[in-house]
Amino acid sequence: MAEHESLEYGKADFVLLDSVSMEDFMANLKLRFEKGRIYSYIGEVVVSVNPYRAMNIYGRDTIEQYKGRELYERPPHLFAIADAAYKAMKRRNKDTCIVISGESGAGKTEASKYIMQYIAAITNPNQRAEIERVKNMLLKSNCVLEAFGNAKTNRNDNSSRFGKYMDINFDFKGDPIGGHISNYLLEKVSEVLNLFFFSPQLLIGAPDSLLRSLHIQKDPAAYNYIRVGGQIKSGINDGADFKAVADAMKVIGFTGDEIQTVYKILATILHLGNLTFGVDGDVTLIENVKLVSVIRELLSTKEENVEKALLYRTVATGRDVIEKQHTTQEASYGRDALAKAMYERLFCWIVGRINDIIEVKNYDVKVHGKNTVIGVLDIYGFEIFQNNSFEQFCINYCNEKLQQLFIQLVLKQEQEEYQREGIPWKHIDYFNNQIIVDLVEQQHKGIFAVLDEACMNVGKVTDEVFLQGLNGKLAKHAHFTSRKLSPADKSLEFDRDFRIRHYAGDVVYSVVGFIDKNKDTLFQDFKRLLYNSSNQVLKVMWPEGKLRITEVTKRPLTAATLFKTSMISLVENLACKEPYYVRCIKPNDVKSPLIFEQERCRHQVEYLGLLENVRVRRAGFAYRQTYPRFLQRYKMISKFTWPNHDLPSDKDAVKKLLQGCGFEHDVAYGKTKVFIRTPRTLFSLEEQRADMV
Ligand code: ADP
Ligand code: MG
Repeated sequence: MAEHESLEYGKADFVLLDSVSMEDFMANLKLRFEKGRIYSYIGEVVVSVNPYRAMNIYGRDTIEQYKGRELYERPPHLFAIADAAYKAMKRRNKDTCIVISGESGAGKTEASKYIMQYIAAITNPNQRAEIERVKNMLLKSNCVLEAFGNAKTNRNDNSSRFGKYMDINFDFKGDPIGGHISNYLLEKVSEVLNLFFFSPQLLIGAPDSLLRSLHIQKDPAAYNYIRVGGQIKSGINDGADFKAVADAMKVIGFTGDEIQTVYKILATILHLGNLTFGVDGDVTLIENVKLVSVIRELLSTKEENVEKALLYRTVATGRDVIEKQHTTQEASYGRDALAKAMYERLFCWIVGRINDIIEVKNYDVKVHGKNTVIGVLDIYGFEIFQNNSFEQFCINYCNEKLQQLFIQLVLKQEQEEYQREGIPWKHIDYFNNQIIVDLVEQQHKGIFAVLDEACMNVGKVTDEVFLQGLNGKLAKHAHFTSRKLSPADKSLEFDRDFRIRHYAGDVVYSVVGFIDKNKDTLFQDFKRLLYNSSNQVLKVMWPEGKLRITEVTKRPLTAATLFKTSMISLVENLACKEPYYVRCIKPNDVKSPLIFEQERCRHQVEYLGLLENVRVRRAGFAYRQTYPRFLQRYKMISKFTWPNHDLPSDKDAVKKLLQGCGFEHDVAYGKTKVFIRTPRTLFSLEEQRADMV
């Protein structure tokens, strides 16, 4: 008996559960986790539970076991769906995508790495040098992005603070020839750098000579931005980490000047964090002026310009341009905004440079056939914290969009296919979350629109104005409420709270900080400062610094608008691909390989909509195949069809074959395809086939 059928390990596919209840689902998930079976299926969806220990299931021999196999032939594994996506791409010329979701620390980024490794391992059998070079660059670019995009947080030592979508392009032979990366919402580190990123810390591991030229000390505790996080990384690994990233940048093709500029920007950020402001009479001043010369040197600008940008703000009043001095508070705010903005800009620039280098150029469709794509999306799942703010709001909106896509692709397409094939379909009810997507993104009335409007208010621009706007426009919305609208509601503790009924459950958000996080808060003076640098690499990161103060009329796009636009294009991009899903679950909050925290896991199963998923699969059919292809695979198990049949049609032959095996009750015959209800039938067919061949 195949391992995945052995009951000792629970049911490998949740579709095979005796009943679809939360209890049964959880019991099976727990049993499998405890038996070291971290992967399961719901039909073709992989459910993964983070093992928090090294598993010996990703090696060369495992790869060989999955290569070219069908999904149900082997125990559930990421490699199986990576292979399915690859086969669909190679054999059927389909663009495919693998959507990996789950909460922070659930194992998404690890999963995406294993998938990439699998694809790298099974392609380019002839070892073409050019293809090997591309593969190496794709893997290396991942390393650089991780170094710059990750942060050590309480929840995860290596938490990606950005969503990442990577397209890998393949030529007609099925070998990778390039790629493209999109990133989504690198979190603005708002409560100053509480979650500060890995890379300024990484710099501490640089060689001494480089550190000297950057005026950086080897002691991380010397830097406020690192210390504030309270999570100084131990120095042991830093040297190796630094070298890995430096080498990766070189391999990808960053120039020497570019790499130097990256270091200079990171160093500037560290120095900025140590700047303090004081007052002398009514003059605001910088207390540690020496740092100003260091920053000037690193940024290749003039010293007086650095000082001025930190202490003054140029404002246009009508035709006059005046310089307004900051208070110490404003100056500190400006300094942090500068550090954050420089980091964010650097990250986006790095992604852009990587794309310049790895993008496929001059692919001739006429000569080489279709250029196909596999996309891998690694994106944060639903987040519900004690305090939920703008970031959680964006992340949860993103998950509503992905859920909507899932509904459209899986549920609707299933139903439509049954209809097309003339198979009787028992309609199943599911919650269509379009109404929540609209609540967020609709023009004029949506929450993002109300937020943007509040940000454009002349005069008072506060979070309260935003909340008033919401209360005014959304008072009647079934999925929205606030303290003002539901004063008796106990879950709304504070006046500043509003609540959204998400498909995955209720989330209370606080409006505090929404306005600030939505607006581009960087003073124009800083943009001009950086644009006027004589370092060309730095200069191109800040094109808008070119404008004079009187010319700055257009407001920069808000974070909400940018995020919404990027989500809409992400979903459009995914919608035209054949999707595969990986749902990641985090078993406990203490990174233990032994603990399966029932309540924590149940929540995640809920948010990921997994039960709904099982219901749809069970209401439907686990497997479908066109008649000729089905025969091709299984004709050897019936005397009526082997070696050839003399029945009027392939459909009749398939009927005869399945009747002979006693599976009549578990199948339906469509116009062009046979549908099999349960995977068990398929397993059995596979076994009979294996006995024959
Ligand atoms: P996410 O991207 O979902 O936030 P990660 O993929 O970074 O989470 O995983 C968090 C941590 O969990 C990893 O650093 C690793 O220690 C552990 N982990 C995740 N997946 C696996 C796995 N398949 N095998 C072993 N450890 C894993
Ligand atoms: Mg991650």
